[in-house]
Amino acid sequence: MPSGHIMQDIKQLVATGTHLPLMEHFYTIQGEGNFTGVAAYFIRLAGCDVGCVWCDVKESWNADDHPVLAVEDLVSLAAGSPGNTVVITGGEPLMYELGPITAALKTAGKRVHIETSGAHPVSGEWDWVCFSPKKFKAPHPSVFDKANELKIVVFNKSDFEFAEKYAALVNPNCQLFLQPEWGKEKVMAELVVEYVKANPKWRISLQTHKYLNIP
Ligand code: SF4
Repeated sequence: MPSGHIMQDIKQLVATGTHLPLMEHFYTIQGEGNFTGVAAYFIRLAGCDVGCVWCDVKESWNADDHPVLAVEDLVSLAAGSPGNTVVITGGEPLMYELGPITAALKTAGKRVHIETSGAHPVSGEWDWVCFSPKKFKAPHPSVFDKANELKIVVFNKSDFEFAEKYAALVNPNCQLFLQPEWGKEKVMAELVVEYVKANPKWRISLQTHKYLNIP
């Protein structure tokens, strides 16, 4: 266990974005949303203050449970993968200053995508922003113009109204996706199909990685 002084130093490094807490990293296939089926290196940062009841990565919530790595070490993890896309996810990655990691990944020749609830101001330079707002913590308005993709997880019928609220707030080029929540997919998929047929500005996103049993 690092001493109090060292912990303080680490927190200061994290505050500048030169170091970030890492929960896990892996090379896989993007399972959902606009880039479904594309090979991508995932960097899952630790720490989330959103608190979704159905969260499937609750072990990411407490950043202190996870190691802190320098940005150059995080980039070198992804740099060796043959795919050119890196997805920064969480947790809630926008809890951190992401300018340094996006700049370093771009220097390494990678496309950089983020998956975020938008609960904090957007930092970093992104090739693709997947914005997935949650009812448990309102998004920061900076994400509305930057979102390339709005992805709403449909957990119950009221989520369609929630989806339309955010569809009206994002920029006009933003792609719109409805994704049945995995645990209730059997019930919700049917409603989502009918909703998209009636409202074709939306597309369906499925968590194909769960069908494929890959991370
Ligand atoms: Fe889990 Fe993501 Fe919700 Fe955070 S924002 S609680 S990581 S689903």
